[in-house]
Amino acid sequence: MNIDTVNATSTTDRCPTCRARLSLSPVCGRCGTDFVMTRHAQAQAKQQVTHAIRQLLCGQPLQAAASARAAWLLDCQPLAHVVSRMIDRRLSPSNE
Ligand SMILES: [Zn+2]
Repeated sequence: MNIDTVNATSTTDRCPTCRARLSLSPVCGRCGTDFVMTRHAQAQAKQQVTHAIRQLLCGQPLQAAASARAAWLLDCQPLAHVVSRMIDRRLSPSNE
């Protein structure tokens, strides 16, 4: 998986209810499905991934692993998974 794949799949672009293309609005324009909580969780997940990377760069791998896992739990997006695996490899270099 490369970074383009991660970016291309990091947002919900179709309504899971009616398959309409979603705009920036938190409510589907076709069926009215509300994505406020989903978008909030996605935003929190992005913050957690950013936090994990900062913690890793600051020499806090255990905290970074916890942040990456929190991001994965909030929104199962590929970027959180990639960052979590990268941190796990750093914590357990013998598993490579
Ligand atoms: Zn819809």
